[in-house]
Amino acid sequence: MKKSFIFSLLAGIFVSAPAFAQQSLDVLIDREIAQLVSTYKMLHAAPELSHYEAKTSAFVAAQLRALGYTVTENFGKFQNPKWKSYGVVAVMKNGDGPTVLVRSDLDGLPVEEKNAVPYASKVTTKNEAGQDVSVMHACGHDVHITSLLGTAKMLALMKDQWRGTLVLIGQPAEETVDGAKAMLAGGLYSMIPKPDFLLALHDNAELEAGKIGYCPGYALANATSVEITIRGLGGHGSKPEVTKDPIVVAAQTILALQTIVSRENSPLDPAVVTVGSIHGGTKSNIIPDEVKLLLTVRSYKEEVRQRILSAIARIAKNTAAAAGIPEDRLPIVKAIETEFTPATYNDPKLTERLAGVFQKALGSDNVVNWPPIMGAEDFGHFSLDKQIPSAMFWLGAVDPAKVAESKRTGKPLPSLHSSLFEPLPEPTLRTGVKAMTSAVLELMKK
Ligand SMILES: [Zn+2]
Ligand SMILES: [Zn+2]
Repeated sequence: MKKSFIFSLLAGIFVSAPAFAQQSLDVLIDREIAQLVSTYKMLHAAPELSHYEAKTSAFVAAQLRALGYTVTENFGKFQNPKWKSYGVVAVMKNGDGPTVLVRSDLDGLPVEEKNAVPYASKVTTKNEAGQDVSVMHACGHDVHITSLLGTAKMLALMKDQWRGTLVLIGQPAEETVDGAKAMLAGGLYSMIPKPDFLLALHDNAELEAGKIGYCPGYALANATSVEITIRGLGGHGSKPEVTKDPIVVAAQTILALQTIVSRENSPLDPAVVTVGSIHGGTKSNIIPDEVKLLLTVRSYKEEVRQRILSAIARIAKNTAAAAGIPEDRLPIVKAIETEFTPATYNDPKLTERLAGVFQKALGSDNVVNWPPIMGAEDFGHFSLDKQIPSAMFWLGAVDPAKVAESKRTGKPLPSLHSSLFEPLPEPTLRTGVKAMTSAVLELMKK
């Protein structure tokens, strides 16, 4: 009895420092988790659209200030002067050491929630165009905010275990991919030291709650919106011979655009060209003057993106020319710069290092290598074209029973942005806080 008591005492003394930190982190999270779950439910029930995150950002700022962070609110500057930037920058200085930035995003989406949970969003508002829309945290940014707040608390409590400057970000307008740019344009990197590392997590609608996914290298694609205005010469539907029909040219253009990825691009370079919108005409017997197409273009490499954009312009112009449309009425092809976002590139060394940390913290079964996707995120802006090593991790958010059921039946799970996307608060939030806190402690350890 006595012997075993002494043994356990010794084991307690000799238990390794990281293992001890891990145990005490679990205890601290246990104490906090009920509060975090209720914070999450409160945020989930009160989503705000991109560019209008006033209440969410005020809440995040107040919470971080109460934890002892130096907080700047309403930070950032959009190109469009109509929008106020609701960025939150919270800094905790803790002696000399690296600067680590952890980013969360604040905005919801114009989606009507169809989940039956008691905290489902019932929020409605007007969108930019003045239409009535419902709002939902359908991308799980409420999970990101709550994980950030939990991480903020853990690191404030564990201040004796790290050193350097910790920067926590609440970024507005991720869904419109202009919020990170607005924060940089507002002078983020002159207000804080330029970070040595950038970290973020995003919830994942296919991965089980309790797990983390990591993807070294390109993880998410760049995205460019392109608008093509095909101009013809309108007239009566019964007299095509005196018109130049932009609807037929649009149809030919859409099919010709399919050859960019299939015939002009290396199969080893992932790329997508999708025409997601086509608008033209008002009536069956009128040939309209113009047709508008909206495209999304995705790739990983910048040179691939440039090649695709010039191929789109070439195909649009020459298809119109082949239809006899005069020089001064050739299509107008425009990449919408405000909707561009670079690829998310996870620094391989940093990503592998942190995957090791997660394996220790969560067990290796709970850390999986996740393949890259062609979805896009604006987190890449913060890395200043890969100058700053950055890593974004996937946070499993789905009830494991639902993942198993989907695998069994082959029926896909609701994706991000779906009205039925339903993160499981526990253990998603616990895992998010534990993973992010462990990652920061690794990079800032004493
Ligand atoms: Zn999203
Ligand atoms: Zn998102």
